[in-house]
Amino acid sequence: MANRNNPSDRPPAGVMTPLEPGIRRIIAPNPSPMTYWGTNTFVLGEGDVAVIDPGPADPVHMDALLSGLQRGERVTQILVTHSHLDHSPLARPLSEATGAPIMAYGDAQAGRSEVMRDLVARGLSSGGEGVDAGFRPDVRISDGEILRAGGLDIEAIWTPGHFANHLSFAWQGAVFTGDHVMGWASSLVSPPDGDLTAFMASCAKLAARADRIYFPAHGAAITDPAARMAWLIAHRQSREADLLATLADGRPTTVSALTRTIYTDTPPALIPAAERNVFAHLIDLVTRKIVVAEPQLEAHADFRRIG
Ligand SMILES: [Zn+2]
Repeated sequence: MANRNNPSDRPPAGVMTPLEPGIRRIIAPNPSPMTYWGTNTFVLGEGDVAVIDPGPADPVHMDALLSGLQRGERVTQILVTHSHLDHSPLARPLSEATGAPIMAYGDAQAGRSEVMRDLVARGLSSGGEGVDAGFRPDVRISDGEILRAGGLDIEAIWTPGHFANHLSFAWQGAVFTGDHVMGWASSLVSPPDGDLTAFMASCAKLAARADRIYFPAHGAAITDPAARMAWLIAHRQSREADLLATLADGRPTTVSALTRTIYTDTPPALIPAAERNVFAHLIDLVTRKIVVAEPQLEAHADFRRIG
């Protein structure tokens, strides 16, 4: 499974590449440790086409995308999986250039759980993962909605967890999984945009479907979705088991103490991200009444195992 994402065979950015009948991909020139080889922008259909995840606000990428279409083709819908800066900012310029509406679950706050809304009200801000705070779709899509896009019937699946407004899009056994499921990394879950309780529910939702192939927004296609979902769920469960073992004595502890106990090999620069991840698990455990936070649920609380 790892070899499919070998860096030595990374495809180049800016080249419109057919993947399957009705599915093309063009990679944005934004490679990084967070985006792998860059954002995959997908083009669905032929003639009248839908674009999934236009990518970062880069005019070079927009030119490559539009000039990569066949003569006479036009973009009729712009679908956005979620409003991180590597996915949604080119949507507005592309809409202005083509007249196509931007379709997404909602703005950058849409879909947040009550727990996350409460944490935001108490001062928790996003962790610097690059939120497109001004994102506003023209059309809001709800869970299970069938979109007539690019001449195709595409099913929208609300998959919050990496981001509250995250949608996946399904068509003929292929699912465009955005950042929810990727082949080269587990998904980042950083509160308040990231919500582990929602993430696990979204994983269960996708795992219950018998889809043929996943096309993530970064990296290569996943040709065995069932195996990848099983791995992703087990990966999170093993992190949770590590946390619960550390909390087993029932003594109160903090996010930073837990992070230092669990992430012993992590370079200092990555500790803040690891703390966000530990906090994501603790929020989920508090929601499930396995852990309590004192005096209240926030990043600097004391956490104690009760279940
Ligand atoms: Zn993202």
